[in-house]
Amino acid sequence: MTFTIARFVSLGLSAGASKASSRFFTPASPRCINSIHSLLRPIRTSPRRSYTTTVTAKSFGSAFAFAVVTGGASLVFGALALSRDTASPIPTAEAIIDVVPITQTGSEPTCNLVKALEDLQTEFSDSSVVSTDPNELYAYAQSSYSQFVGTPHTIVVHVRSTEDVVKVVKISKRHLVPIVPYSGGTSLEGNLSAPPSGSICVDLSGLDKILKINESDADVVCQAGVTWNHLNETLKEKGIPLFFPLDPGRDATIGGMISTGCSGTNAVKYGTARGEWILNATVVLPSGEVIKTRQRARKSSAGFDVTKLFIGAEGTLGIVTEATLRLAPLLPTSVAVAQFPDIRHATNAVCDILNHGAALQCVEIVDELTIKVLNQFGTSARNWPEKATLFFKFQGSDDSIQETSRYVESAIAKHGATDYRLASNEQESEDIWQDRRNALFACLAYRPGCKGWITDVCVPVSRLPDLIAAAKQDFEELGLVAPIAGHVGDGNFHALVLYADDAELALVQEAVSRINRKAIELEGTCTGEHGVGTGKRDYLLTELGEGTVALMRTIKQTLDPHNLFNPGKLYPDVLPPSDTDALTEGHAISDSTPTNES
Ligand SMILES: Cc1cc2nc3c(=O)[nH]c(=O)nc-3n(C[C@H](O)[C@H](O)[C@H](O)COP(=O)(O)OP(=O)(O)OC[C@H]3O[C@@H](n4cnc5c(N)ncnc54)[C@H](O)[C@@H]3O)c2cc1C
Repeated sequence: MTFTIARFVSLGLSAGASKASSRFFTPASPRCINSIHSLLRPIRTSPRRSYTTTVTAKSFGSAFAFAVVTGGASLVFGALALSRDTASPIPTAEAIIDVVPITQTGSEPTCNLVKALEDLQTEFSDSSVVSTDPNELYAYAQSSYSQFVGTPHTIVVHVRSTEDVVKVVKISKRHLVPIVPYSGGTSLEGNLSAPPSGSICVDLSGLDKILKINESDADVVCQAGVTWNHLNETLKEKGIPLFFPLDPGRDATIGGMISTGCSGTNAVKYGTARGEWILNATVVLPSGEVIKTRQRARKSSAGFDVTKLFIGAEGTLGIVTEATLRLAPLLPTSVAVAQFPDIRHATNAVCDILNHGAALQCVEIVDELTIKVLNQFGTSARNWPEKATLFFKFQGSDDSIQETSRYVESAIAKHGATDYRLASNEQESEDIWQDRRNALFACLAYRPGCKGWITDVCVPVSRLPDLIAAAKQDFEELGLVAPIAGHVGDGNFHALVLYADDAELALVQEAVSRINRKAIELEGTCTGEHGVGTGKRDYLLTELGEGTVALMRTIKQTLDPHNLFNPGKLYPDVLPPSDTDALTEGHAISDSTPTNES
């Protein structure tokens, strides 16, 4: 399927490329590099090669519009590559080596990259496993979809097993070299960047085996580099009527999903990675010890939940190499859509429906600007009224879908809904949902050549209209264009804030900062699902309080006393003494190590 889409896209992009006028693609993540290759030439190439090309924004937009029509959802993620920093050219090998030189650090017990490289090359005799190729060092430090440009790693190791990971961790520990895990590369908050002192990136995408499907128990054992899409496609191909319902970015892997505490559109019905979907995980600790957090039973009250320690830990406490995942029955699904006078009416309708127990699988909101943009994008089968819109997914038998639909239609009518439509067949469901998926594409194409900053905050559902109203006011005041879409059933807000240059980028940063603070003020969180990375660290103390952050630091310090696992991410920097009365000295992980990123 991907191959076929790639063929279609290659036609459009080749045409676009011939009219090239400006550099458009920039250094991309390894998976994206692969997809960009396949977009332009339908030949599978190594995911480890980097690539640049030139196309005009217009030609890119039309090529993708064509591709979306033919290919659909899988391209959303390719399109997001456009949101990367288009102003930064791919760095040369020399530039990368300038940024992170491999130098002898002397005999003191500090980070010794040269010795680490020597040991890795001795340990892994296959020369393709350990890489210092500058393109790879750069590519594995980024997510192509994110606004954050990462610092290149010093070494990338393409591991294939838990044992390989143990070897790397022991070498890292021996030479005090930080480690950054990489799986799908779709995270959005600067989670993959190297610390300034240099690092080994452990590429887990090669741990891609589905090890055992226990159909009667509805669970699956798989390696950490398996993508959720591949898992679900495999179940489908095997005729097993089960699926894994966590649905973040398309190329996200189980290891990355666990580590970011992900969720997605299905969270309304199925919850998040913090629920019961991860039955156990096999984890390599910073000591090099391997633990399996639990057995395979559906539930256990044997002590506290160690698996959860690693959910949302962003690779700072351990490296996940395997997991057992709970699966859900695959049920027939239908899609409905309705328009509302404004966001507040739409959100109130959602609260009403959810509190009365309607069997919703998903409910997504997009604002009137997003609808306008979608209409202009031209891939939709219909021209939507330019109003705040809800997209619903119902799940169950035909009868139960009809019953839910009748209930929803009557409930939302009280909130001013118009144009309610339940898809009449599978194809129409797919088409309508595709419009929701295409929102990101459409928004990027709205201002050709621009980049987009994807925000992610979450508030109690009833507070969402207040958040959105404040955000819209900020966007207007700052003169920014920012279509809004979100998982309204969970109060999860995303806006794609568009910017063309550094001046606009500064305004975007101000807007994003205001939104984060507003979400926390409304009893919400600065990150509903994308994690903390480097982008959200500064908000944690306000959101969680000093005591909670101090406890997180204590756990980190205990497991990783040298701060080698993904340093500089998640935990806020240590505050000046006047602000840290509540924090004991032992919590201050970042000032005693050579590896902390400020
Ligand atoms: C278009 C788009 C849509 C998205 N939509 C959603 C959404 O709806 N919901 C959502 O939750 N997210 C969404 N995301 C964000 C992203 O898909 C998630 O954060 C995802 O869980 C990241 O998984 P990954 O495999 O790509 O991890 P990576 O990006 O490779 O890594 C993420 C973090 O986890 C660490 N890590 C990776 N693998 C391991 C491992 N095996 N062990 C320990 N640590 C590890 C990394 O060091 C990093 O800190 C979206 C992203 C994009 C681009």
